[in-house]
Amino acid sequence: MEESYCKNVYSQEKCEISNITEGYMDYVCENAVTMAMTLDQIDKESPQDKFIQELIKCIQHDEWPKHQNSKMFYKLRNEVYVHNNIVLRGNIIVITQGHRPKVLQIAHETHQGIVKTKQILREIVCWPGIDNEIEMLIKTCFQCQLVSNPSQQLPITPTELPETPWQIAGMDLTGPFPGGEYILVVIDYYSRYPEVEIMKSITSRCIIQRLMQIFATHGLPSVIKTDNAPNMVSQETTNFFTANGIKHQRVTPYYPQAAGLVENFNKTIAKCVKTANNRKKKW
Ligand SMILES: [Zn+2]
Repeated sequence: MEESYCKNVYSQEKCEISNITEGYMDYVCENAVTMAMTLDQIDKESPQDKFIQELIKCIQHDEWPKHQNSKMFYKLRNEVYVHNNIVLRGNIIVITQGHRPKVLQIAHETHQGIVKTKQILREIVCWPGIDNEIEMLIKTCFQCQLVSNPSQQLPITPTELPETPWQIAGMDLTGPFPGGEYILVVIDYYSRYPEVEIMKSITSRCIIQRLMQIFATHGLPSVIKTDNAPNMVSQETTNFFTANGIKHQRVTPYYPQAAGLVENFNKTIAKCVKTANNRKKKW
């Protein structure tokens, strides 16, 4: 009696743990795909992808032939696992052969140069030879060369004028000010109307909350422009933009003109705050 009770508790616990693990894997899968590709696509492509199928076999049988493509995963054999048709290494997705050009293309959209592109991709995806492929792509790209060589000036292109209000928005943070506050400015590129939020905390979550309030009033923009500040490009912020169909345009350090509208506005605010503080006035 006691034994069977124990067994029940054990299997129930085991079941709960496996549910949690399953849930966690789903979570990891969903969040690892931050770019404009869906898990469905990878999942569908996987059965026809020779590389992934070989790798799945290696993982499932724990056999790692040395001559195969999957050789590089041998060292990581304790870290890779299969979930549905997807192979993961920790929370990093091993990308099918067919999907790699698309991943590279998306990662290259903002022309961040070799180092930064590798950094961005390493956090979310991997495949054998990824570093070489990134290098090949970026060494032949003119704009990326300019980023790596800031002595050359990028041509200044005028900011495109959107057709409707709140279609394109810019966002920037200024601070901290002497009282510890930050100012979040979200500006509409059509009307140049700014939304200004004073914030005590600038975690991604706090920023997202403020953005939700702003977008609830004005509607969701199609494009948002920000600089590369960590809380602007965090996983959480990126997920929020993706989930709401907002295209996130990051501005490179050597090409700040693109977010110039909001940055100029922030400089003006910063000046006002400083002046008010100097005169001991409340702002
Ligand atoms: Zn480039």
